[in-house]
Amino acid sequence: MSYTQHNRSKFYDIEPAHIGSSQCERLTSYLCRLSEAHCVTRRNLIDYGIVPLLSKSPNEDYEKKRGIGFYKWTQIDGRGTIASGFVNAVEQVTLREDIRFTTLIGLQGVLPDKGLLRSNRAWCPLCLEDERYRCEPVTEALLWALNLVKLCPVHDVPLEEYCPQCKKSSSVCNQKRNGFCPYCNAWLGASTSRTMKFDDIDYYISQELGELISAMPNSRLMINRESLYRSIKAIAEKLTQGKVKTLARLLQVPPITLRGWYKGEHIPELAYTLEICRKCHLSINDFFAGNVHDITIENHCRYIKPRNQRCKINWCKIGRMIQTGVTSNRGSVKEVASILGVDRRALIRKFPEMSKISSK
Ligand SMILES: [Zn+2]
Ligand SMILES: [Zn+2]
Repeated sequence: MSYTQHNRSKFYDIEPAHIGSSQCERLTSYLCRLSEAHCVTRRNLIDYGIVPLLSKSPNEDYEKKRGIGFYKWTQIDGRGTIASGFVNAVEQVTLREDIRFTTLIGLQGVLPDKGLLRSNRAWCPLCLEDERYRCEPVTEALLWALNLVKLCPVHDVPLEEYCPQCKKSSSVCNQKRNGFCPYCNAWLGASTSRTMKFDDIDYYISQELGELISAMPNSRLMINRESLYRSIKAIAEKLTQGKVKTLARLLQVPPITLRGWYKGEHIPELAYTLEICRKCHLSINDFFAGNVHDITIENHCRYIKPRNQRCKINWCKIGRMIQTGVTSNRGSVKEVASILGVDRRALIRKFPEMSKISSK
């Protein structure tokens, strides 16, 4: 009798959350969940399960040190060699091929390292609360790790960096559980958020970078250094017939900096890339992928949201209110909807069981 030996993963092959959306989980968050599933601390999982595999890559001598330093922790979700080393190791132990999308390594050729990632954790309290309300695993998004992102593109609320209870900030290095403060163990999610006035550019940045992260698993989107240079050249040719100095004035970029991009010597910092895309009416995905055809340059930007937009309805909070009996002993759906401050039809669409109360 013969047996076929199947490949088995060393660790559980947990699926990374929200891949293909702007809420895509980051690798340090995934490692938290993986360590919880194995009932070990994330530090031990990394030091004894991942680091020995990293030592196989050249130029890295992790094994002797048995551990990684603070700087390297902050780079795990990034686009460099530390992130790619971690991705390879985690894909090896889980036998998954989608771990790479929890980092920025797919954008290695188009994103410079400088100022890319936050050193401290940031989070959208409403996203965390939504996951807990839906009884889903709590995850922390890759988008929140980006330094330029100030607000959540799903809820349009500011990202938080300080624990609501002990007021301390924390880094991914000392993070113990997703969605919890490592110092006082307070829950970081909330059903409401502080209000803050943002500039149009902040909405634009969070939307565009959210779309960039959503598109990463799309294999048809070929993003690399060459496609980026192709875009810069096409913009220069179409707008100013290759006159770099004139283009620099139009884009409000120092000419020497623009010349470096034009010659393919440097890649633009992310803030510059976003500014170019905004001015030229291009999506960042098209810019990075070299899909630059019709370009116009003007101040108006189609991605900016109107300032006086309607408030988002917090359906999680309404669901909890319904569960706690706020709607009991009410005559009609209309009456319940007015108590909850929402439209009657939207309420029935979200909670079909509400349509029954009018027949009581
Ligand atoms: Zn959110
Ligand atoms: Zn705290």
